[in-house]
Amino acid sequence: MNIDIQHFKTLLENEKNTLEKDLGQIGRKSDPSGVVWDSISQENEEPTDRDDVASSIETFDNNESAILVLETQLHEVNHALEKIEKGTYGICEVSGEEIEVERLEANPSARTCKSHL
Ligand SMILES: [Zn+2]
Repeated sequence: MNIDIQHFKTLLENEKNTLEKDLGQIGRKSDPSGVVWDSISQENEEPTDRDDVASSIETFDNNESAILVLETQLHEVNHALEKIEKGTYGICEVSGEEIEVERLEANPSARTCKSHL
């Protein structure tokens, strides 16, 4: 294996920091491990008319789906970091072959090679 693990580890740790920062802005950890995040509720805001109620609910829905996306990405990044610890990083989880470097450059948390997307 000729890939630069340290390079990808740095990329993954940067991505993890960014994801956790983004999650921190729209949600809060609902468990100490930080695996599950809740949307910050709008209950402290007093809606003054119907439009405000509607937009408040809409914001809540958007946060929920954004959190879901970020949570999934964070999960993938954590999984990749675990593989670095185990020494299996860069190995396709389907075929056990090496994942193409350019694929890892595009997506450092890729689990599989180009043949097993
Ligand atoms: Zn494969």
